[in-house]
Amino acid sequence: MKQQENMSSLIMIFGATGDLAIRKLFPSLYRLFERGRLNKFAVIGVARRQITNDAFQKSVRESVINALGDKENIDEFISYFYYQSHDVTNSSSYVALRNLADQIDANYSLEGNRIFYLAMAPEFFGPIALHLKSDGLTEVKGFKRLVIEKPFGKSLESAKELNQQIRTAFSEEEIYRIDHYLGKEMVRNIEVIRFANAIFEPLWNNRYISNIQITSSEVLGVEERGRYYETSGALRDMVQNHIMQMVALLAMEPPIRLTTDEVRSEKVRVFRSLRRFESSEIKDYFVRGQYGPGTVNDEQVPEYRAEPMVDKESNTETFVAGKIMIDNFRWAGVPFYIRTGKRMKSKSTKIVVQFKDIPMNLYYQPEKNVHPNLLVIHIQPEEGITLHLNAKKAGGHLDAQEVKLSFANTGIQAMNTPEGYEKLLYDCLRGDATNFTHWDEVAYSWAFVDKISEVWEKTKTVDFPNYESGTIGPKAADELLEKDGFFWWPVSYLEVDMCK
Ligand code: NAP
Repeated sequence: MKQQENMSSLIMIFGATGDLAIRKLFPSLYRLFERGRLNKFAVIGVARRQITNDAFQKSVRESVINALGDKENIDEFISYFYYQSHDVTNSSSYVALRNLADQIDANYSLEGNRIFYLAMAPEFFGPIALHLKSDGLTEVKGFKRLVIEKPFGKSLESAKELNQQIRTAFSEEEIYRIDHYLGKEMVRNIEVIRFANAIFEPLWNNRYISNIQITSSEVLGVEERGRYYETSGALRDMVQNHIMQMVALLAMEPPIRLTTDEVRSEKVRVFRSLRRFESSEIKDYFVRGQYGPGTVNDEQVPEYRAEPMVDKESNTETFVAGKIMIDNFRWAGVPFYIRTGKRMKSKSTKIVVQFKDIPMNLYYQPEKNVHPNLLVIHIQPEEGITLHLNAKKAGGHLDAQEVKLSFANTGIQAMNTPEGYEKLLYDCLRGDATNFTHWDEVAYSWAFVDKISEVWEKTKTVDFPNYESGTIGPKAADELLEKDGFFWWPVSYLEVDMCK
């Protein structure tokens, strides 16, 4: 992995008064600062509203204290923050921004290294990148890197257009497309679990694995994000990026080295092996849902169509389940079932790797079944691994019973487990793009998802709402597995009391 020791950088955050900056970026920068991982640095916050440097620093202070509690060195930390009121659509104000950037660069000896973090709505990404180049902000003697948030387009075509715009100012190596799932500790752990364990890698194929299930469920509804969600839906918001990235990490071949290029090219090979379905087949492989009213945490909640800024007759899906097939030598015949939704029973992201049954079950008697072996990777909220095995029941004759061996990540590392954004910011400072998505990954996963959304958009008759809030989604999602002889492992069954 290419790492840089010298990490001095001017970090320019566009959208510095927004939710992402306040809730995630400032606390993550503070954590890096606290751990001595921010060498020489300064931050310029950019947004339209007219506020002073002092007011901006105060908002940074509040954001850190709200997230992490009181901090002794908070005054020193916020002294590195500057604010520039600037409308990114206004061409003339980029000159003032460049002057401020040059001045701060000189004052802090930042060696012309710049990170441009676009924590703003995606329609601004292209215009900002073009201006950064035309107004000379990218003319630096150090490195320049562009960090952008999801969504990266809303189809392959719009993603291509966006990519062309940002590529006029930044090379592919300089673009860091955030998928915050790739900052999660247990998502990063998938590779290590697979490639550092002699007991898993030989079994990691269609001879021993019967199916893999990925569930990412939320209890929250669409909240205040109705306007955005109406143009997105669960397929674009969750499947195209986070879920497809987890599929790629689970399915990829071992890279020859852990370099950015090698890891990415193995992931791309998975995307290239995804089975492309005919339009007429989509209904057999993918299920969509939308939440109706229901009870969540003992409270009555409204249906999706009654949420703010949502069309009363909306056909936007808030739930997706699917069966993904990877047509290569390793995975032929193994379904990867995926499921994600809002307003579900519990907040949980888990991966279940279900191994095939043993050839002959010596212990089977009615009610004394031997369970399939499962490897469960708990991504959030709890982080860890559980291995479901069979062992002799104490005191019994030769009765088998299921035992669960668990490792709780949070239990051991507790406060030291860095938050996703902290890790991604640190990677970006070091110039390590492994856990950011390459354009090829984006393009292949859009091509895959576009096919589904095209069919769904053309199908006028949708039985929405088709699942009650506070449940596990529509019945059709269960039937998707039942017809293959499988079932979703219930989240409650997979939960373990992880020793802390
Ligand atoms: P937000 O709360 O709406 O913040 C938008 C920011 O952009 C504000 O600082 C706003 O400040 C600024 N802004 C808007 N128009 C501007 C203009 N013309 N010129 C300069 N500044 C302008 O949005 P957010 O939730 O932080 O999300 C930002 C991006 O991150 C989006 O792409 C979103 O999809 C993505 N994202 C967010 C989260 C999250 O947890 N929030 C998670 C994942 C991805 P002014 O009004 O002062 O201009």
